[in-house]
Amino acid sequence: MKTQETGAERATTGRSPQARNGIRGDQPYGAPQLDVPYQLNTNENPYAPSDTVIATIAADVASAATTLNRYPDRDFTALRHDLADFLRSESSVALDPAQIWAANGSNEVMLHILQAFGGPGRTALAFTPAYAMYSEYARDTLTEWTTIARRDDFTIDLDAAATQLPELAPAVIFLTSPNNPTGTALAPGELRAILDIARDLDIDGGPALVVVDEAYAEFRREGTPSALELLADYPNLIVTRTMSKAFALAGGRLGYLAASREIVDTLRIVRLPYHLSSITQAVARAALKHRDELLSQVAALRAERDALVTWLRGLTVNGEPMTVAQSDANFVFFGKFEDRHAVWQGLLDQGVLIRESGPEGWLRVTVGNREEMTAFKNALVKELGL
Ligand SMILES: *Cc1c(COP(=O)(O)O)cnc(C)c1O
Repeated sequence: MKTQETGAERATTGRSPQARNGIRGDQPYGAPQLDVPYQLNTNENPYAPSDTVIATIAADVASAATTLNRYPDRDFTALRHDLADFLRSESSVALDPAQIWAANGSNEVMLHILQAFGGPGRTALAFTPAYAMYSEYARDTLTEWTTIARRDDFTIDLDAAATQLPELAPAVIFLTSPNNPTGTALAPGELRAILDIARDLDIDGGPALVVVDEAYAEFRREGTPSALELLADYPNLIVTRTMSKAFALAGGRLGYLAASREIVDTLRIVRLPYHLSSITQAVARAALKHRDELLSQVAALRAERDALVTWLRGLTVNGEPMTVAQSDANFVFFGKFEDRHAVWQGLLDQGVLIRESGPEGWLRVTVGNREEMTAFKNALVKELGL
């Protein structure tokens, strides 16, 4: 017998709306955020802002607060100007502020790129192992996703690229340099080779877009050029950067890119109005005023990284020397372990959180300060019974 349902019963016994095909059943992305003494799993900069930097940020945020009844500058003109200025000093490449775009982390910048240049009927591609978020931006923008495997040493196989890229015809190609999770930097010749292939593809009458993700660029070794230097030669190139890593501003959420004016103008079509709050703009500009201080730890972190690579290479796992990928970033990728999860857990039990990332058997550790590195080394030695 059918009884009358009350509203409350309907709310608890009714069917739930189902997510669309493509995300139904997926889990939200993210590294575990655990409250342990040594957090070496998200490639953050270990150095907190100094009192001087905090004071500037606080004063500039207070000043921005006086007009919080108004919407922010939608085109964040002053911030774009400051970012262009910073890139000129960091990479000696002169850019017009109209060639700069920014959003809440380079994650949102890349979402804008796929919203504008990906989408139904188009494909995005990365060379794997690659940053796990790219495939999620593709999923979220209904863009087809495909990959080409890197070589065993994590460099890009240019012969494979030359044959496969024309067949796969991606509208957007993600190149990460230095790459996450492997730390591998692209050689300039490799980048030009991919850009040349992309330029000859025909995506609705235009070339394929190449996005070089330089989230870790400031950590690259001497003599490794930035892709920014190629912007003048390639109208199909986007270079993305972030203030989350070397700049020690992960909590500020500011990522940005440099590209042609035309590309930036296209991205302006898909961004939400006022996506960068007045507070975010003020914090980023305040941090940029202190760029010399904020970036001053980069040299120390590079030296710490090189020492860590050397130390890890001296270890033995299962009777063989540890394999350690060359790194131009602020993290090191090492292995291979028969049971990497057991090693990860063993370190966590000692208060050291690192990352299970990339192909089976490998682990990634963020380069921290001296104390954190000592804790990591001691924990690893103990875990491996060395
Ligand atoms: C950390 C990281 C980013 C930066 O993300 P934000 O959103 O700017 O914090 C981008 N790309 C790669 C490969 C990264 O590892």
